Amino acid sequence: MLHMNLIDGQPRAGGEEIANINPSDTSDTLGLYAFAAAADAEAAVQAARAAQPGWWDAGPQARANVLDAVGSALIARKDEIGRMLSREEGKTLAEGIGETLRAGQIFKFFAGEAVRMSGDHLRSLRPGIDVDVGREPVGVVALITPWNFPISIPAWKTAPALAFGNAVILKPAELTPACAHLLGELITAAGAPPGIFNLLMGRGDLLGPALLDHPGVDAVSFTGSVATGRSVAQSAARSLKRLQLEMGGKNPCVVMDDADLDLAVEATANGAFVSTGQRCTASSRIIVQRGIYEQFTERLIARMQKYRVGNALAEETQIGPVVSDRQLQSNLSYVELAKKEGCEVIGGDRLSRDTDGFYQGPAVFLGATNRMRVSREEIFGPCAAILQVDDLDEAIAMANDTEFGLASSIMTSSLRSAQEFKRRSQVGMVNVNLPSAGVDYHVPFGGRKASSYGPREQGRTAVDFYTLWKTAYTFAG
Ligand code: NAD
Repeated sequence: MLHMNLIDGQPRAGGEEIANINPSDTSDTLGLYAFAAAADAEAAVQAARAAQPGWWDAGPQARANVLDAVGSALIARKDEIGRMLSREEGKTLAEGIGETLRAGQIFKFFAGEAVRMSGDHLRSLRPGIDVDVGREPVGVVALITPWNFPISIPAWKTAPALAFGNAVILKPAELTPACAHLLGELITAAGAPPGIFNLLMGRGDLLGPALLDHPGVDAVSFTGSVATGRSVAQSAARSLKRLQLEMGGKNPCVVMDDADLDLAVEATANGAFVSTGQRCTASSRIIVQRGIYEQFTERLIARMQKYRVGNALAEETQIGPVVSDRQLQSNLSYVELAKKEGCEVIGGDRLSRDTDGFYQGPAVFLGATNRMRVSREEIFGPCAAILQVDDLDEAIAMANDTEFGLASSIMTSSLRSAQEFKRRSQVGMVNVNLPSAGVDYHVPFGGRKASSYGPREQGRTAVDFYTLWKTAYTFAG
């Protein structure tokens, strides 16, 4: 079956038809997906521009109703959609269902935000004049998303964009069009007017420029790698588009001598290896204090080797396959690099299973230094560099010595160390006695340095990107 793009409420074929392959079993495909051409991007922009004013005028209740209905549908169908997600992206069934549930909760949260959208009424400094300060939608927003959270990232961009009266053009990752396509179906079924949500599946290097250079697109919210983010920023700057970038990480997890060992092992293993390490907030540098180093690494390796890697849909699987052959080859090349750079590598081999998929065992790189490429570049696989330090000051300096600044974590039973780390960690999201990965949707999400650019996503702060302030002065005479 051919799954089409969605433009102005109508299905639309594209230039190419691409098979969507299950990374757990390459003989299984989720169907054919129509990859859009530049002309389709033009049609999507026209449709979005035409529809957006009516969507804003429809008022907060109408928008809230649509978002609430999408949220309910995602939650009611979480098992079926979660299964599709796991088939498409390769995360375990429990994770696929959990992510779908999260996407549903995000839509419901922003249904409420649509209604709560507020402004200020003030007296002017000049006599007899009133001032109203209110928010208005930005207009048409292009949303460009990665493959690793194929339903929740489209959800956490689309929901606030629609809640605050914008029209959306979603460009999902090439590897995961099915989740975005399904989202389009749900938004249409929930009663969104044609043109309010448009879906353009296909190649980023083709559709990205078509959207970024288009004067009819007012804002771009992008999540993906730093390299792509930089080129998106350059294009957006040329046409002065409003811009939000969420990018990679090389997130540190510090383990202090006084950490609860059981908790530290579980949190670091979870942070590094769960979801096949394919989380932007994954712990990819584990910085361990010397006194606990031997005991901790021994326990971490034992825990890592217990993970059951396999077909995402099998009940016993705890770590699914890598998303694609390309990503797997990249991960394997980093395993080789770690050896060349002088690390002792435990794990990280390509694995074979009953079905032909992109399986890789989790890995630790022992004896790493923070200058090595494996400690500086985002690998985006189930691999963690293990580094050793003498004290908290050295741990914090090493944790901050990176171009990234997304998330961090510390495992300690000392309140003083926890407070010190929270204060000095140069990231957007810091965790104490928790994995570096794992976030809530009702609070700001994002990072610093090369990890993020522009206003924060999620929570109540999402409104800052998707709206513009207007100050109105009135003299009633
Ligand atoms: P990617 O940069 O390869 O692709 C991201 C999106 O950009 C895709 O939709 C792609 O088609 C599109 N794209 C490609 N070229 C483009 C261009 N020239 N112009 C415009 N768009 C273009 O990233 P990926 O491999 O899909 O995802 C993995 C990356 O995403 C990792 O670096 C990860 O850390 C990051 N990520 C970050 C967050 C966060 O919130 N910080 C969350 C999830 C993933």
